[in-house]
Amino acid sequence: MDRLYPDFSVTEESFDREHLAALLGGSSDTDLFSVANKALGENMGMGVYLRGLVELSNVCRKNCLYCGLRRSNPSVRRYTMPFDEVTAVIRYGYSRGLRSFVIQSGELPDREHIDLVERILTWTNAELGDVRMVLSMGELPRQVLDRLKKAGAHRYLLRIESSSHDFYSRFHPSNDLHSYRDRLNTLAILRETGWQTGTGVLIGLPGQTVQQLADDLLFMKKMDIDMCGMGPYLSHRDTPLWKERETVLPAERRVDLSLRMIALLRVMIPSSNIAATTALQTLDPQGLEKGLSAGANVVMPNLTPEAYRKDYNLYQGKVIVDDSLDSLLERLSVQCNAIGRKVMMGNPGDPQHFVRRMNTPDPECEVIGND
Ligand code: SAM
Ligand code: SF4
Repeated sequence: MDRLYPDFSVTEESFDREHLAALLGGSSDTDLFSVANKALGENMGMGVYLRGLVELSNVCRKNCLYCGLRRSNPSVRRYTMPFDEVTAVIRYGYSRGLRSFVIQSGELPDREHIDLVERILTWTNAELGDVRMVLSMGELPRQVLDRLKKAGAHRYLLRIESSSHDFYSRFHPSNDLHSYRDRLNTLAILRETGWQTGTGVLIGLPGQTVQQLADDLLFMKKMDIDMCGMGPYLSHRDTPLWKERETVLPAERRVDLSLRMIALLRVMIPSSNIAATTALQTLDPQGLEKGLSAGANVVMPNLTPEAYRKDYNLYQGKVIVDDSLDSLLERLSVQCNAIGRKVMMGNPGDPQHFVRRMNTPDPECEVIGND
């Protein structure tokens, strides 16, 4: 096997914590990004796949210390989009060529919320053809996941946030509702029960080291995930972590680290789908182009109506573009073309990694966090 990074002696098969940490900590170089782009082209092609994002509800039972939607934040105007408004935006997105939609919400496993999501999934599959529905709604019990899959969901995004149990505990209250083990188990269940499984981490949390981020990459490799959405941490003034904002790495460093994480993951799991996240675009006006050029191949245009979108504030300064979907898609297309990439409309964009995983006997997937 040829060495991909001669200077660091990292081969495709032998990613090593210290080498990954060295690459993450390195000064800007373009080598890593050109290797990542080669891996992308050879495994997924240079197309950019879109997922229409619907921020269904900002009601959440959890209290993650970094998130503006946390239950104990009294200044959030809570909403849940009604069924008709959700299906209207999905139908509109579909008419413009979108073939995959993400339903995202706070974690709320109560009956009313699950019934609503199930209805949306059933409607989408009955009314629209060849669509992939993605859920991102936190930890749910196995039977609820089964039910939603049966109703027509295909993909699930559940960020592990950090693969270190100790570090995870620093940013979550210490109680059963925020159990690291439960999060890990849910991820394992998703992967083992036929979901296209996505995870990711927060990059640039106070006190985070490049060694921890290297472990996060190794965790995702070991977990053998199909999709990844990871991006920079941004502070929110109504969260407990706001008081540590002075210790957060400068924006440029968080952007650079995020791009290196994307590039390294692209090389480690070349046929996965990796998103250029909204957080990256919030921190850097060129975040979309930079994320794609680092090896990402997925973008999530936001379909949430403006009236709700302004209340879905995970962090300060979230980009709110009130363009029509047509102009948003047109702009995305221009941005992608400018870096030699093409938006793939009318294509649900399954990760080749999942297709291959389903066609081969499952190798032993030992899922163990870094306790
Ligand atoms: N509630 C579900 C969950 O936590 O899995 C899904 C929605 S949640 C808003 C999606 C992701 O937002 C989280 O996994 C977290 O990584 C990210 N997030 C929350 N607060 C953030 C912040 N301050 N900066 C960047 N990302 C943040
Ligand atoms: Fe809720 Fe998700 Fe925010 Fe945590 S990250 S508070 S689970 S919305």
